[in-house]
Amino acid sequence: MTSLIMIFGATGDLAKRKLFPSLYRLFSKNKLDKFAVIGVARRPLSNDEFQQSVKDSVLSALGNKDNLDEFVSHFYYQSHDVADSNSYVSLKKFADEIDTNYKLEGNRIFYLAMAPEFFGPIALHLKSDGLTDVTGYKRLVIEKPFGHDLASAKELNKQIRTAFSEEEVYRIDHYLGKEMVRNIEVIRFANAIFEPLWNNRYISNIQITSSETLGVEERGRYYESSGALRDMLQNHMMQMVALLAMEPPIKLTTDEIRSEKVRVFRALRTVDGEEVNQFFVRGQYGEGTIEDEQVPKYRDEPMVDKESNTETFVAGKIMIDNFRWAGVPFYIRTGKRMTTKSTKIVIQFKDIPMNLYYQTEKMLNPNLLVIHIQPEEGITLHLNAKKAGGHLDAQTVKLSFANTGIHAMNTPEGYEKLLFDCMRGDATNFTHWDEVAYSWAFVDKISEVWEKTKESFPNYQSGTMGPKETDELLEKDGYFWWPVTDLEVDICK
Ligand code: NAD
Repeated sequence: MTSLIMIFGATGDLAKRKLFPSLYRLFSKNKLDKFAVIGVARRPLSNDEFQQSVKDSVLSALGNKDNLDEFVSHFYYQSHDVADSNSYVSLKKFADEIDTNYKLEGNRIFYLAMAPEFFGPIALHLKSDGLTDVTGYKRLVIEKPFGHDLASAKELNKQIRTAFSEEEVYRIDHYLGKEMVRNIEVIRFANAIFEPLWNNRYISNIQITSSETLGVEERGRYYESSGALRDMLQNHMMQMVALLAMEPPIKLTTDEIRSEKVRVFRALRTVDGEEVNQFFVRGQYGEGTIEDEQVPKYRDEPMVDKESNTETFVAGKIMIDNFRWAGVPFYIRTGKRMTTKSTKIVIQFKDIPMNLYYQTEKMLNPNLLVIHIQPEEGITLHLNAKKAGGHLDAQTVKLSFANTGIHAMNTPEGYEKLLFDCMRGDATNFTHWDEVAYSWAFVDKISEVWEKTKESFPNYQSGTMGPKETDELLEKDGYFWWPVTDLEVDICK
């Protein structure tokens, strides 16, 4: 791949923890052909200092590595004020020189790893100060959050679209870089045994859990105006719903896949007004114990309002009103300071028409297909089979597949895959504007209601799976959450 990558925010946390190590991995796999990186940030730094910080971040993420000096020799640094045209003029001059020296064919990737309020102004400057006047391709990679609601997302989109066409905008949703999220499509569309059952005739409900044990930590300022709804549901959780619910695309092209996902978003049942609190539950963590350690409540975290009404947990029931999914609830829950760190999808199949076999003391368990997204990666299919011995008692057996082989060699980081996709010009695993707009429209209805009323927070103890209303959400429908800790499989040990 031949490209000049300009990282805005090159001294920040994301660049250090994710972007530099991911670029190094691409480099070490010979996936970067001719390339150079210009790191752009506010503070003054020499090239040497910058290269040292890139080295440090690769070493701390990946351990001792070969050819690091050669790798970092491709990195340059430019101190920059994002609001000042003069900064862009000198950046353009510098970029043109690097482009010529490395024969980069005028290909440019602008990666915005900065606070979201800068996204729009940077895009406008890139255009007005001539950085986007290139002979090769130009692509904009933009981090989350993409707006704060539909109105602000529209405004941001308008600003970036003055400089880049929709095809040139790569909106990051790092869940779409995860191995098992990408696998959802293959599991569904490459298996004769699943796709015929993948509908409301055979599936009773789908449960998606993304739980963290960490609290808000240093991100209090950002999180206060975001909350779990905007930080997790609007993007990552909705993307997983779309991948699980979409129709098979005609072809595996970016446009076809995106258009099927958009059709799911169009079929989402709007939850509005009084319905919001019937379909969604919000929570905020109180103090508690996690892994034997006492942790403070959210309201005692740094840069958090003592009376904060921000939710650190959200659970909900999402209905998709189309032929395939009518009547099948998609339950989602996500939050901080929960029992365990886990992202899992459970597809629960309907009960068979009549139970001939009983398990000891309990009814037959339904079939489950569990997709383990993180930390372990794999699939488990729960079936019923005869218990060894004389009787015809049934017991649950689990067929498991684990990405252990790849794991041993280190599954590529999500960011590594996404960066490579962007260089190849494959936008499939980035979110299209239509997806962003539909999911904001859905989420805005919820936040409008929640912002008007104060909840009696904190309402769940740290180290638990959220407020009790989360369980009631499913109990009302005759279901229960499959405990993620029980679903842990004997894989990736
Ligand atoms: P950060 O605060 O650690 O870094 C911000 C960077 O922006 C620094 O390099 C800083 O020098 C630069 N900067 C700030 N003001 C500037 C100015 N006026 N002119 C020039 N440069 C300026 O932020 P981060 O955690 O790296 O996050 C960056 C973006 O990535 C945010 O949009 C965030 O939401 C998103 N993101 C971060 C993570 C993560 O793991 N850190 C994960 C997902 C998304």
